[in-house]
Amino acid sequence: MSKTLFEKIIAREIPAAIVFEDDLVLAFRDINPQAPAHVLLIPKKPIPRIAEAAPEDHKVLGHLLLKAAEVADRLGLKKGGYRLVFNNGPDAGEAVPHLHCHILGGRKMNWPPG
Ligand code: AMP
Repeated sequence: MSKTLFEKIIAREIPAAIVFEDDLVLAFRDINPQAPAHVLLIPKKPIPRIAEAAPEDHKVLGHLLLKAAEVADRLGLKKGGYRLVFNNGPDAGEAVPHLHCHILGGRKMNWPPG
């Protein structure tokens, strides 16, 4: 199986503006930001999307959510708020088949989303 774009970023084969990393997850700035702050937080394990996550992934998924809050705080978004988005499948606009949490903030968000 060929590597996804995000696996190449994890392997440092493609450059990215990394803002956080630990054993389980990596966070980097989205190349096409949709808000003043737009960071992608990914598990290092190549889970394609949330629908493909397995029960044994509960630890990494819980860790990912806790780190999303920590990264948002580091980005200065805690007070004003922020949005976490997981696009799952074609109707949601998923483009990269490696689970990723969009952390978006720094502007007022609309609801419902487009
Ligand atoms: P999604 O549409 O939910 O699959 O999100 C994929 C995201 O990856 C999009 O917001 C893209 O702008 C972003 N993206 C694509 N290539 C790169 C890259 N090389 N570095 C950072 N973000 C990227």
